Amino acid sequence: MRVRALAKINLGLDVLRKREDGYHEVRMVMQTIQMYDVINIYKTSRPGINLRTNLPYIPTDERNLVYKAARLLMDEFRIRWGLRIDLQKFIPVSAGLAGGSSDAAATLVALNQMFRLRLSKKALMKRGLAIGADVPYCVMRGTALAEGIGEKLTMLPPAPDCYVLVGKPALNVSTKQAYESLHLSEIRRHPDIYGLVRAIEKHSLAAMLPHMENVFEPGITRENPIIGQIKALMLENGARHAMMSGSGPTVFGVFDAWMTAQKAADVLRESQMARTVFVTRFFNNGQKI
Ligand code: ATP
Repeated sequence: MRVRALAKINLGLDVLRKREDGYHEVRMVMQTIQMYDVINIYKTSRPGINLRTNLPYIPTDERNLVYKAARLLMDEFRIRWGLRIDLQKFIPVSAGLAGGSSDAAATLVALNQMFRLRLSKKALMKRGLAIGADVPYCVMRGTALAEGIGEKLTMLPPAPDCYVLVGKPALNVSTKQAYESLHLSEIRRHPDIYGLVRAIEKHSLAAMLPHMENVFEPGITRENPIIGQIKALMLENGARHAMMSGSGPTVFGVFDAWMTAQKAADVLRESQMARTVFVTRFFNNGQKI
C-alpha cells in the first residue's frame, strides 16, 4: 500500500499559557498543503517492523513516528504479520511543517485499511493523540482551528485558494527550543486567531491577512535573522503576506498568481538563503492531487 503524508502550515499560531502538566495551551489555524512524504507499506511473513528511509539522519526504530504508529495498531489488534515500510521524506525535518506527525497519521490510516480494522476517523484521531498532539489534525486534514494542546479540533470551511511559496533555511529549530525561548509574560500583543477564523468563514483572503501571525516568530527571528530576510524577500517579490510556520524555521508567502510565486521562488533560490524552495497550494478534503 502506498500513501501520501501531507505537510501543514499554520495560518495563525498563538500560545496562551503553560499548563501545570508542562504542556502549552495553543490556539492555531492549521492548513494542509500539497507537499508530501510517500510511504510504501508491505506485509511480510517475517514478524516485526522493518522501516527504511531516504534520510540517513532520522531514526528508523521506535523513535520514528511511523514506527510508533505501526506498533500501536499492531499491538492493539495483535497483528501477526510483519511490515516493511519505506518512508520517502520530502517534507523538511524539524521545520514547523509537522512532517513526522503527518507520517504517523498516514501510517494509521493505511494500516486501518490494509488490515481492515474498521476504525472510524475519530477512532484513528484518538489513537493518533497518543503519538503526538498534531497527529489527530494530520488524520483530519484541511483547514482547522486547533485548541487545547492542539488536539481540540474544529473543522473550518476551506481557506480561499492561493499559491504558497515555502522556503526553509538551512537550520533546524526544535519545538522544545522554540518554547524555551518564548517568554509568555513578556508578550504584549497576541495574534487574533478568532479574527482569522471569522475571515476564513467569510472566505476573504484580504480579511485574513492582518490576522495571519505567529507568536513564535519575533523570538525565533531575533535568534535567526535569515528568517526575517526570507520573509522580506517574499514580500519584495509580490507576496500578499509572508510569515513563519509552526515553531519555524520555515517561512511561507501567499501569492495571488502562480507566475508571481514562481518568480519569487527563483529569486529565493538564487539568493541561496533557503535550502528547500517549493511552490504549492492548499489542500482541502476531497480534493484530488
Ligand atoms: P512540528 O511542525 O510538529 O513542530 P517539525 O516539522 O518541527 O514538526 P518533524 O519533522 O515532524 O518536526 O520531526 C522532527 C523530529 O522528529 C526529529 O528529531 C526527527 O528525528 C524526529 N522524527 C521521528 N519520526 C520522524 C519522521 N517520520 N519524520 C521526520 N522526523 C521524525
